[in-house]
Amino acid sequence: MRSHLLNDTTTDRYRRSVTEGIERVAAGLTAAERPFTGVTPDGLAPLIEAIDLDHPLHDTTAALDELEDVYLRDAVYFHHPRYLAHLNCPVVIPAVLGEAVLSAVNSSLDTWDQSAGGTLIERRLIDWTAGRLGLGPAADGVFTSGGTQSNLQALLLAREEAKAGCPEQLRILTSEAGHFSVRKSAKLLGLGPDAVLPVPCDRDRRMQTLALAQELARCTHEGLVPMAVVATAGTTDFGSIDPLAEIAELCARYGAWLHVDAAYGCGLLVSRRNRHLLDGIERADSVTVDYHKSFFQPVSSSAVLVRDAAVLRHATYHADYLNPRRAIEERIPNQVDKSLQTTRRFDALKLWLTLRIMGADGIGELFDEVCALAAEGWRMLAADPRFDVVVRPQLSTLVFRYVPAAATGQTGIDGANLYARRALFSSGDAVVASTTVDGRHYLKFTLLNPETTTGDIAAVLDLISGHAEQYLGENLDRAC
Ligand SMILES: *Cc1c(COP(=O)(O)O)cnc(C)c1O
Repeated sequence: MRSHLLNDTTTDRYRRSVTEGIERVAAGLTAAERPFTGVTPDGLAPLIEAIDLDHPLHDTTAALDELEDVYLRDAVYFHHPRYLAHLNCPVVIPAVLGEAVLSAVNSSLDTWDQSAGGTLIERRLIDWTAGRLGLGPAADGVFTSGGTQSNLQALLLAREEAKAGCPEQLRILTSEAGHFSVRKSAKLLGLGPDAVLPVPCDRDRRMQTLALAQELARCTHEGLVPMAVVATAGTTDFGSIDPLAEIAELCARYGAWLHVDAAYGCGLLVSRRNRHLLDGIERADSVTVDYHKSFFQPVSSSAVLVRDAAVLRHATYHADYLNPRRAIEERIPNQVDKSLQTTRRFDALKLWLTLRIMGADGIGELFDEVCALAAEGWRMLAADPRFDVVVRPQLSTLVFRYVPAAATGQTGIDGANLYARRALFSSGDAVVASTTVDGRHYLKFTLLNPETTTGDIAAVLDLISGHAEQYLGENLDRAC
């Protein structure tokens, strides 16, 4: 069994094994005519259930053959131009190369003595990101597993920095389009069930600053402590960017921590065309960036950045066996002092190789392309009487719904849109998302693939309207 351990004597097996895996993925990418096969949980579960995990195949090729059946053939493929659903992106090859390297070397970024250069590379990328954000000379941060964890850590720091107030009095203000991880974080932080106050949005789904001002004033008046405002730079549903500068102004006035959730919008940091949309982000106390969304990096790759490195001490705990206090005096860089995680992937390597091979502008161009595609898609939808489109996109998201020509009740329209999404998913021809807007069902494209064309958008819209019409034809009596 030792021949399976990766070391100096097994490099041939390593090369063969990994190459064989790469060949399978390459073949899968070429073979995928659609983003999805439409397989159902009931269809796939028996195949996976039937595998006896206590009887290994002892053969790489056989295991990969099996993997074709249980995973590769029916996986959802994000490189396909008609995958238009969620924020998971097609990935760039330099980052996939990084992934292969980092898992083989298996550095762990908790301590210097498990990572060496990995720690310094991560630190450079944090500094680079903080520089792009404009957070100033005292900024710092750490890579995380994703935006959810980044938001949790930022809110932990905000809570620790909120000097006054018992947990029941602490409030977090975020727009009604903010990410649900804000509420999840509040719960994990032991705040009360009413801790997160939703601030209304304007028609473009951006936080209304007037409403935020009123809420902040009300909190103070009622003896509550607005410990943080979470502004979203790229809401998950609409890609809308809250008015960051105005929000920063209000935070300064009320002494509230400003966290900017730029999990989605962070791609603008490398955009030469649209960077200005993030103006004001430099005033944040903390920022979430998800490189695994708009930097075309494989899951996971994310970071939380802070204006003042000193606040990261709230996440610092010492273990004598790992990161003893004396390491600080000895100036040994141990990233675990800044992280909620202990053992931690060297995800930063993917971004490093991406910047070294493609360059930041290259990533920015890809993100600009999908934003331009969304703008074009919006024009198509706005001109198409079959559809009602919600907001003109700032990033790469389109929220719309099919509206039949003939008078149809709202329930019928909701049903037709839900049906269209499901039918499309089962066919595998395209994958789109659904969401609700003001209580009604809508469909959503999240465009992150520069290979998607306006022709793809037009074709998928035709498919949607075909499915919706079919539903209404069959359900007219019930729907009305
Ligand atoms: C995706 C997203 C998150 C959560 O990030 P994960 O990486 O999925 O954990 C948080 N905030 C916003 C605005 C997002 O779009």
